[in-house]
Amino acid sequence: MEILKKNGYGIGRMSVKNSDNNYNYIVWCTGSLECAVIDPIDADVLLYFARSEALTVKYIINTHTHPDHIVGNRAILKVTKAKILAHKKGQKYVSSRSVAVDDGSVIDIGKQKIRVIHTPGHCSEHISLILGEHIFVGDTLFLAGCGNTKCGGNVDELYETIAIKLRTLPENLIILPGHDYSEKNLRFSLSIEPRNEATRLKLEEVKSFYSRGMEPMPTTIGEEKRYNPFFRFDLVELIEELKNRKPSLVTDPRAIFKELREMRNNWN
Ligand SMILES: [Zn+2]
Repeated sequence: MEILKKNGYGIGRMSVKNSDNNYNYIVWCTGSLECAVIDPIDADVLLYFARSEALTVKYIINTHTHPDHIVGNRAILKVTKAKILAHKKGQKYVSSRSVAVDDGSVIDIGKQKIRVIHTPGHCSEHISLILGEHIFVGDTLFLAGCGNTKCGGNVDELYETIAIKLRTLPENLIILPGHDYSEKNLRFSLSIEPRNEATRLKLEEVKSFYSRGMEPMPTTIGEEKRYNPFFRFDLVELIEELKNRKPSLVTDPRAIFKELREMRNNWN
């Protein structure tokens, strides 16, 4: 568990050693010691951490209802009085006793306030959570990539979420995603923009973290604009690269975004 403490709140980031490199998070108010767990898989580790820090688990928050984001709910409910929070469109997959949140909802954890944004696209019920200088984006956005739309998703909604809701957020906001796919995403980014020096440097940095047995550092909204193709769909340099390969490509931002998503789906 990697721990970070900031103006009145703490965040624990736990890398689950599974094939999809999930991240589990725990967030707490350093004053009241109330906490929420986000997308739990490994309930034992999260509960052990909560106990060792004397934290009371007030909420389980599911960014969306894919099995690898809700599987730990039951074990946490068994031993705490936590309430499950999920988007109203996902409640039926989580628990009939869950509490619905939606765009604009505010979740209180002690003195800390978590703001909910509805971010559909990867699936219709997806939410992201802003706490202070951090945003938990589940499977909507990743380092140098974005979520796929294979399990109940919609690529038009994903485009609107990323172009309108996420890319416009403050540049210093730190992104905490639901998985680490950094190396593969950066390799894909380089295949799109082979001359992008920012991508090449980031790939080297990520590989150097892995070689030391560490997780890559979280990035920011501003940083992603330099190498994440799903933030760069309307930039001349990226459009020219794609046009060279497919002269018939329509250069409308939405069409470019969808083309990139399709290319990433078929890329190995
Ligand atoms: Zn998912």
